[in-house]
Parts: sequence; structure tokens; C-alpha cells
Amino acid sequence: MDHFLYRNGHLHAEDVAIAEIAEAVGTPFYVYSTATLERHYRLFKDALEGIDNTVCYAMKANSNQAVLTLLAGLGAGMDVVSGGEYARAIAAGCPPEKIVFSGVGKTRAEMEMALRGGVRQFNVESEPEMRALSQVASDLGVTAPITIRVNPDVDARTHEKIATGKSENKFGIPIARAVEVYAEAARLPGLEVVGIDVHIGSQLVELEPFEQAYRKVADLTRTLRAEGHDIRRLDLGGGLGIPYARSNSAPPLPTEYGALIKACVGDLDVEVEIEPGRLIAGNAGLLVTQVIYVKEGEGRDFLILDAAMNDLIRPAMYGAYHDIDPVVETSPGTDQRPYDIVGPVCESGDTFARARDMPPLAAGDLVAFRSAGAYGAVMASEYNTRPLIPEILVKDDQFAVIRARPTFDEMINRDILPKWL
Ligand SMILES: *Cc1c(COP(=O)(O)O)cnc(C)c1O
Repeated sequence: MDHFLYRNGHLHAEDVAIAEIAEAVGTPFYVYSTATLERHYRLFKDALEGIDNTVCYAMKANSNQAVLTLLAGLGAGMDVVSGGEYARAIAAGCPPEKIVFSGVGKTRAEMEMALRGGVRQFNVESEPEMRALSQVASDLGVTAPITIRVNPDVDARTHEKIATGKSENKFGIPIARAVEVYAEAARLPGLEVVGIDVHIGSQLVELEPFEQAYRKVADLTRTLRAEGHDIRRLDLGGGLGIPYARSNSAPPLPTEYGALIKACVGDLDVEVEIEPGRLIAGNAGLLVTQVIYVKEGEGRDFLILDAAMNDLIRPAMYGAYHDIDPVVETSPGTDQRPYDIVGPVCESGDTFARARDMPPLAAGDLVAFRSAGAYGAVMASEYNTRPLIPEILVKDDQFAVIRARPTFDEMINRDILPKWL
């Protein structure tokens, strides 16, 4: 459930009309709902009630500082994958003891930054990384709390670009080698093993892959404890999917996911961490854009929008589907017709949807891409020198620009001419 509903025929974000925001800031823009973000975070907290848990929001889904500050204010921890994200977590007021540092390629500089500033744990993904961290921590005279990310060789049954838990993926160490790698971790100076980490992919729409992975992690917990390791924390990753298409069956709910976690690891006397990103932010955001032209083609009509692949890359990159709705509600019984929905960028890949049935639309009409709050703005670029589009946060009947559209001068002046030009 989200808070983007039609009222008197006009799409609203909470109590604010989308058209009113468009009037104020121009199109295209992203708009996020405070109530939806809060609700999604609380769904996870409620689902894990009864077990010791920390919900670490995976900020790579949407790292606007206002979104982070809102979630940190609710008590969320953060999952970060770069020094920049670490800095954002701290700036948002997230206590260091709630920040987990993930990612396959942490540099020594990033390790040092988090060791100096404080961190809940590093989720270590390889032996070379583990050895580097041991050295960095030893040089600083501190101890780095670590989990090791295991790759359970489970098929997440999601898009190949966002599956991470199969042996051919670059993530984590093979679970079959865990005993050996943990033994080395225990011997290395500057490291303290605190638990196990697993994350098998994103946009999972079934519970079975989670169950397979979590059962393997539970077994590994017993094995490693028998080897003398103090496994007191399990980081179970993120990845729970969201409904992108109204017409599809909905993915499992956080309550079902929470029940599964309790069933798999509830008897192990561990602290549980989860790292949801998409489910918290995805359906809390819309991309609002305007039809520039309706172009009649051979056998098909094109809706040319003022948003493009540089603003929302998911369709071009993953073949992702987004529901696209007119901002003015269509009256029931209106005939639909198929459109190819495209952006203005000079690439045929700049196509959001093909042969999508839509009500008749005209230049100037506003449409909203649903489920655009995660992996939308954060993946945007200025390709074709198109400014990064503004982000808006709504709360009840208020809205605020939480990132402004740069001017052309601002964009151009970021480049520096060498002295010989
Ligand atoms: C991307 C990622 C997440 C978040 O995944 P979602 O599908 O957005 O929930 C969590 N943990 C790690 C390590 C990730 O790389």
C-alpha cells in the first residue's frame, strides 16, 4: 500500500496534488511520500518483533539526505556500500553502531574512514579484503568487527543482473569454504568475528530462495560455533521484492518474510540484521513526467516524454516494468490504445514501454511512473546534458524540494578548462 491515490480524479501524493507540484517545480521530478517510507520501515520492525533485530536500510536504493534523515529518525540502521554512503549515514544522524559496511570492493581508505568514525561491522566479501582490513585495523591500533558474506549457491530466481547468491556471482565466499576462511579470520590480528552475512539478490518475489539461504546460514552458525567462533549476529541481507505491475500477483509480505526468518534462525539466540532497500523506498516514490509529443508512427504511436533513460534507467537496464498512470484519472469505460512510451535521449534503448495500453493522451498531459522511489534518482545521470531532476518529499499537505534541479550554468561550470584552452 502507498499514499499515491486519486482524489476527485486527480493523483495526489498524500494530501498534495501532483499537478500542484508540477506547477511549482516543473517536470520531470521524483516525489516521495513520508507516510509510505515510514510505513514500510515499520512493517519490517513489526515483522521481526520478538527477536533482537536491527533494520539497516540499504541506502543505495535511495540515498537522498532527507530520506535518510527521516529513516534514521525512526531508528533505522543503514547498510552502506561506499565511503560516500558511510558519510551520508553519519550526516543523517545514524549512530555508527547501526551502520553495516557491505560491498565487494572496499578500499583501504574506506575501511579507515569507517574504523575511525565507528561502524557496527564490516561485511567482508573475500579473503584479500579480509587481510587488507586486518592490516588497516592493526595499523590504526583498533579491532574491526566483521561478518563474512557467504555465497550459499542459491538461485534467487530474479533478474540476472540483480542475482547475487549463485556460485558464479562475484559476491561473498563460497559457503563450502566458510570453515576455512573463518579459521583464518580468527587468526588474523585486528579482526573480531561477530557473525555471518548473506544477501542473495534483489527483487525476490518468492520466499523459497530466502528459506534455502537462511537454513544454510543456520547450519553454518552451528558449525562455526562448534569450531569455537562466537557467532552472535546474522545479517540476512535485503532483497524482498515489491509489486511493480498491478496485474501481477504480489510478492510475499514483510510479515511472511519475518515469520520465515523466525522459523529459520529464531532458535539460535542471535541478533538479526536485515538490509531492505527496495521495499522501503520503491513504492514510496513516483517519477512524474509530461508528454511532449504524441507521434504517429507506422503501426504504432509514440508517447514522447520529457523524462528519459538518464532519469530512470531501470527499463533500459533490466527491461523493468513500471505501471504508468495519467495524473488526471481516466473515466471508466475510456477506450485504451497501445503506445510505445519513450524519452528524448538519442538511443533506441530510451524506451520505457512498448505497446502499452493507455488512455488517449495529448501533449502537455502529466503521467506518473509508479514504484520509482528505489533505484531511480540514485541511478540517474546527466547524459545528453539533461539536468538531474528534482526530488520532492511530501508530508501530509506539505511538500519540499529535497534536491533542486541544477541550472545549465551549474552543470557547465562543473567542468574545468585547462589553462592552454
Ligand atoms: C542491494 C543490497 C541490498 C538491498 O537490496 P534490496 O533489494 O533493495 O532490498 C541489501 N544488502 C546488500 C549487500 C545489497 O547489495
